[in-house]
Amino acid sequence: MPLSSQTAFNQLNLHERLLKGLEELSFDQPTEVQSAAIPASIAGSDLYVIAQTGSGKTAAFVLPLLQRLLHDESKPLAPRGFILVPTRELARQVVKDIDILGKYTFLKAELVTGGEDFKVQAARLRKNPDIVVATPGRALEQFSAGNLDLGSVQTLVLDEADRMLDMGFSEDVTTLANACPEGRQTALYSATKGNRGLQRMIDSVLREPEILELTSVRDDTPAIAQQVMPADDTAHKEAMLKWLLVNEGEGKTIVFTNTRVAADRLNGVLRAMDLRVYVLHGEKDQKDRNMAVERFKQGQSGVLVATDVAARGLDITELDRVINFDMPRSGDDYLHRVGRTGRAGASGLAISLISPHEWNLMSSIERYLRRQFERRILKEVPGSFKGPKKVKSSGKPVGAKKKKDDKKKSSRPKKPKAGKRPSRPPEGQVVTSSDGLAPPKRK
Ligand code: AMP
Repeated sequence: MPLSSQTAFNQLNLHERLLKGLEELSFDQPTEVQSAAIPASIAGSDLYVIAQTGSGKTAAFVLPLLQRLLHDESKPLAPRGFILVPTRELARQVVKDIDILGKYTFLKAELVTGGEDFKVQAARLRKNPDIVVATPGRALEQFSAGNLDLGSVQTLVLDEADRMLDMGFSEDVTTLANACPEGRQTALYSATKGNRGLQRMIDSVLREPEILELTSVRDDTPAIAQQVMPADDTAHKEAMLKWLLVNEGEGKTIVFTNTRVAADRLNGVLRAMDLRVYVLHGEKDQKDRNMAVERFKQGQSGVLVATDVAARGLDITELDRVINFDMPRSGDDYLHRVGRTGRAGASGLAISLISPHEWNLMSSIERYLRRQFERRILKEVPGSFKGPKKVKSSGKPVGAKKKKDDKKKSSRPKKPKAGKRPSRPPEGQVVTSSDGLAPPKRK
């Protein structure tokens, strides 16, 4: 993660109690997004920030929020800070960060997400937390039931707004934002420039925002070695995965699948081995999800089999490796997964197992990221597929299906198959990589 070489936290005019909180975390220097967003926030602007997960964006919005509340003398019986995030895991992580950064402030944050008892949550809201961190669905339910008063909100944060839109929360987010006072300050964070839906949200919730576009997607992952391994089929992938976990299996690994069913199946397969294996997906009940994450975090080693619901918001330090058992359906999803490793400057490794039908998707993602993944053949688990024999300059196999009339169309490469996700901005909007080289081999 790139750190600013210039600014220090004590140059950001932060309250001394916050500087003390920062000392606890041993953050020496603000990250790029922190250096840019903290002063702009303290100055009072609405913000539209494009920053990746892993860039330090949580502290970038938490610190100015705490700062504002520290200086605020009003004592309303309702929250003054309201943070909306896409997933329960991310919400928990944000509350945890507020607890640490705000340790010397006496400011309190409360979690409002699904999967927790509604009435218990309502009772906690009556205790008048200073900040509420919520997922949109449950926040709207508590709001509609009259348990969440948004009338005193001074700062509204929409974190990972692009993801909230992808997850279908657009209307909920807008309703909740409109329930906050007009004079509030709003900061919207997004990992991507999003599409028209995001622009509509920006237009409706932000007032003359300052726009901070921080790291290009590729700047964020150079410390992560990214490899692809051709695989014949699912059975071959399983054999390769087992080999990797047994023979290169030190530390913690997240294995991503595209579906819940595949995650459950792999969980069963791996449990038969002598490994600490946890599974995490959206249909697990909240208690099981929390327990899986906590146990995985606590151990020195282990395997977490997860769907994309886990990709956002999990801040698992010392995560050594991400393995894509299935190739994600878009470049953004790939980044969100791979961003779990190599966090805050640590080196990391991402391995994608690619069956023949995933090769095109993989090369689309390479083009989107303007990065070539390192090809690696796992000799110990031989297979017949070694990648296409000949590839076009686009990276696609020669002879890959192409409609006749496509030939005359734009030479712009096709986007990765989007699944349910709305379209990304065109490639031209992505800042180019300075090197474009394959990442270094891991030691
Ligand atoms: P985030 O993007 O907020 O999820 O943060 C990603 C990771 O970077 C977390 O593990 C943070 O604890 C860590 N982090 C955030 N700010 C800093 C900083 N200024 N220096 C070092 N690590 C940081």
